[in-house]
Amino acid sequence: MVCKNCGANVGSEYRLCPYCRSELEYPESKAAPQPIIIQNVINNVNPINSTPYVEYERHSKKDKSVALILCVVLGMLGGHCFYAGKIGMGILYLFTCGLFGFGWIVDIIRIATGSYKDSKGLPIK
Ligand SMILES: [Zn+2]
Repeated sequence: MVCKNCGANVGSEYRLCPYCRSELEYPESKAAPQPIIIQNVINNVNPINSTPYVEYERHSKKDKSVALILCVVLGMLGGHCFYAGKIGMGILYLFTCGLFGFGWIVDIIRIATGSYKDSKGLPIK
């Protein structure tokens, strides 16, 4: 069976083309395919998958660009630490000018590369 829409050679058991999902035109004499085949095609196109939820759990809910701006502008005062929920670290940065500037520079790089973590240990991406 050749699909008239995209020209793909598909098995005669399909009613819908698995490549372009257009309806295949069979001669009148052929028996109608079983409905379960159509269900299989739909399932292949839209697999039941919960990956978005898993991704959400792996990353921090905090926004990377907000953290980066806070770090560049207020990093010496621990602004990004407070944003990430690390209050103790923020207070330490506040009194030591971002660990004398070293912690500040390191944190800018870590936020920019997506390896900076929030108070729950989830990377801010
Ligand atoms: Zn097709």
